[in-house]
Amino acid sequence: MKEPISAINLENPDVAITMPIEKPRICPVCRSENCANSIIHLYYSNDNPAVFDRPHDALHSLYYCNSCHEVFLRRSRLFSDSHNHYWEDSSPIFTPRRNTPMQFPDAISALSAKFVEIYHQAETTEALGLYEVCGPAYRKALEFLVIDYCCSVAPEQTKAIQSKRLADVITGIKNESIKTLANGAKWIGNNETHYENTNDSNAYLEMKLFISTLINIIISEPVIQSASRFYKGSK
Ligand SMILES: [Zn+2]
Repeated sequence: MKEPISAINLENPDVAITMPIEKPRICPVCRSENCANSIIHLYYSNDNPAVFDRPHDALHSLYYCNSCHEVFLRRSRLFSDSHNHYWEDSSPIFTPRRNTPMQFPDAISALSAKFVEIYHQAETTEALGLYEVCGPAYRKALEFLVIDYCCSVAPEQTKAIQSKRLADVITGIKNESIKTLANGAKWIGNNETHYENTNDSNAYLEMKLFISTLINIIISEPVIQSASRFYKGSK
């Protein structure tokens, strides 16, 4: 949705231009929709259209989110023609960087150090607002978690498991809860890599929930098995 704004010339604050610009639909901090409110717009511009692609021909827009109460900055390229008609081309959004890495149980770090490493990299891309690539990154982390888990269950089949497709590895999992969560996360993650992505824009958050639940079940399995041995021993 476009909204009319008034942008102040940074080189001459007495000069302002009005123009319609596209309002950010999603807050890059909390991912809420339609919560961004304009605070201020500032621009640099050249009179000569031939040089309008110089990097500093930019519109800087500051927004406030009603939902998370954070502010974020969007930088757009600013174009003008000889009649002083302006238009913008939205580009990167800069957000306050919030990266609180997930703390994994020691058992998960021991099970798959590579999963932990990739997951933290995915978190970094998410914190930078790179939402187009954090989904596939979480998908890659999932693959390491699931394959390393299956290798730990059947260590004698490690080589065979590591050479299989993730879908085939998941098919062989006996624990139905783990199988369901792995399939759900894989489905979302695969979609994130496709040209035609049918996920909604926050689907990767669902994938993260599936992965964290998967972790809880994986670390609880040996505890349940131990309890089961006690129970059988008491009969
Ligand atoms: Zn927000």
